[in-house]
Amino acid sequence: MIETFCDRLQQLVDIDTPSGGVEQERVAELLAGWLAPLGCRTEWVEEPDGPARSMVIALPGSGRGVVALLGHTDTVFPAGTVAARPFRREGMRCFGPGVADMKGGLVLAAMAMEACAARQRPFQELRLLVCADEEVRLRAPAVSVHAAGARAALVFECARENGDVVSARKGAVWRTMELTGQSAHAGADTARGRFGAHMHVELLNDLASMARSIEVLTPEELLVLQEGMPDDEASAAVIAAGTGMGQAFLHRRNGRLLPSPSEGGHADFAARTDRELELVRMLRDRDGRAEVEQVLSGPGLVNLHRFTHRGGECEIVTDLDSPDAPAAVSTAGLGGRCQGCAEALRMFVSAYGAEAGNLALRGLALGGIFVGGGIAPKILPAMRSGAFMKAFLDKAPMADMLTRVPVKVILNAESGLIGAATRANELAQG
Ligand SMILES: [Zn+2]
Repeated sequence: MIETFCDRLQQLVDIDTPSGGVEQERVAELLAGWLAPLGCRTEWVEEPDGPARSMVIALPGSGRGVVALLGHTDTVFPAGTVAARPFRREGMRCFGPGVADMKGGLVLAAMAMEACAARQRPFQELRLLVCADEEVRLRAPAVSVHAAGARAALVFECARENGDVVSARKGAVWRTMELTGQSAHAGADTARGRFGAHMHVELLNDLASMARSIEVLTPEELLVLQEGMPDDEASAAVIAAGTGMGQAFLHRRNGRLLPSPSEGGHADFAARTDRELELVRMLRDRDGRAEVEQVLSGPGLVNLHRFTHRGGECEIVTDLDSPDAPAAVSTAGLGGRCQGCAEALRMFVSAYGAEAGNLALRGLALGGIFVGGGIAPKILPAMRSGAFMKAFLDKAPMADMLTRVPVKVILNAESGLIGAATRANELAQG
């Protein structure tokens, strides 16, 4: 049986079947040929979106209900891949374009039908849907008509090496757009042409996305550091230390909070204490100047660690070049076993609060300061220790104004996605 399987797999793999080509039909024909001796009914299904047709191969049974087997014939490999990287077999392992996705699955489905044919057939029909392209055709006739009402549907997608099976896409949007206005093509005068989709698509960076989420986040998704006196007519701002430092203003317009991006993370880091002045000197000597981001970010935590451990070794965080170093520094700082690490985290939290206060002053953010990014939720005990808010408020003579600013930490790590979805929904509503 293994030999038959591998032989058939090679026959399918030997056909180049890039998506959108017509060669897929030859794969379907091979499958139909193998299953013909079982008395299967075969039927081509026209697909409106592409050159290749899909095929339904149905094995009649004596029971009730349809059982659908799903597979697709196209691969992601362009024409010519088979010649460049032909099928080969090493013992029990087969290699070649489409072996896993999903010609192996098609052979398996065909052989499963043969196995069922040799036994009782407790179904009305066992229906193999050989789809020409599973990504754009899943809602097309081959599947939508012939699998509708099936008692069960089995997808013959092969598992990954670790056993994982792809069961869903991260997301896709199906929309039909009718555009009016300037045409996309304007002959040789390219400047007159426009790509209409650009007028309906908006790219958001991560911080702008996060800022978009503010209006829809629930109270449970926010940790209040200062209640303040919320002003529903005032602007707000977002500050986010993560892999970098992001800042965005949220301007109040007609009752809405509209994000306005900034490059505030690259503004000068403002030292307040003698210790911070020393830090600035270290950063300036090394990099020419001291930016906010060199202190308030993951790499900033590592800089602080270097600074507070000058002249002494750290026993806890030894590999500062590791991508995990920032998290290691904050964990060690929270643990308190190393004085240097504890000071690094204290300096980070205090500088974070001070910079958040600067942002509130610059944006007159009486509507709130929202602290996003990956670091704050991981160091909540330090964020709530008082050092953040003390530095935030330490702006005489503006302290009174700053006590009115609500200050909240965004706890939901998906806030960027939520904001992007919110914006996409707005665009879709027109
Ligand atoms: Zn340490």
